[in-house]
Formats: sequence, structure tokens, C-alpha cells
Amino acid sequence: MLGRSLKLRQVSAGGCNGCEADVNVLGTVVFDLGRFGIQFVASPRHADGILVTGPVTANMREALRRTYDAIPEPRIAIAVGACAISGGPYAGCAETHDGAGSTVPIDLFVPGCPPHPFTILEALIGLLGRKAPPP
Ligand code: SF4
Repeated sequence: MLGRSLKLRQVSAGGCNGCEADVNVLGTVVFDLGRFGIQFVASPRHADGILVTGPVTANMREALRRTYDAIPEPRIAIAVGACAISGGPYAGCAETHDGAGSTVPIDLFVPGCPPHPFTILEALIGLLGRKAPPP
């Protein structure tokens, strides 16, 4: 479905910014996400899928849903970090929705609090059906 490239729109749906930081470093020379054909794009209309971090706060739920809906089908959704998987340390909080699965259908879960950047990289490469390089 994805061929040899993957364009993702990232949505920070709350959280502590730890997962966002580890996603951001994937663009540095150490990880160089682009060499695998994987890129983050500015518009969901240019994306194959969405990468969500954070537990989905009440303020971000509608934005997350709209961003997902703006991605052309077929599309995928990836939950990165304990917050996006199940709410993490915010689980049960009245102002959050216990993870991205509450709002969009999730195809890939990447565990950790936060996940190591190599964990995220390996998951994305695995999604494309390739083998991750050794760290
Ligand atoms: S999973 Fe952990 S590191 Fe990531 S946003 Fe939640 S609390 Fe922060």
C-alpha cells in the first residue's frame, strides 16, 4: 500500500513533549529518517498517514479527528508513546481521552515513555517492510 515512501503528518495531542522531542530528532544526521523515504509533511493532504503523540486532550481531539479525515484514503495512523497508546501517566484524567485510539483507528503502536528514537525508526521501517539498520 505504501510503496517505498511514507509521508506522515505529526499531531501532538497533549503529553509532556518528550515523545515529540524523540520524533523530532529523527530528522537529524544521526537518524536521517529521509534516507529511508520517510518524511514528515506540513499538510495532511500530502500525507499517507498520521503519527500521534500525547493522550489526546479535550482541546486536541477535534483537531486530531479533522487532521486524520483530511488525509486521503487509504491512510494509516501510528500511536507513538504510552500516552498515545493508552493515556500513559494521564490515563483516567478527565481532560484526556486515554490515547489516540479513542479518536482515530490505530494501525501501529510504538511503546515507550518516551520511545527511544531508534525504536520509533525501527517501527517505521518495519511498517514499510524493511529491516532496520543496526544502531
Ligand atoms: S508517553 Fe511519556 S514521554 Fe511521551 S508524551 Fe507521554 S509522558 Fe511524555
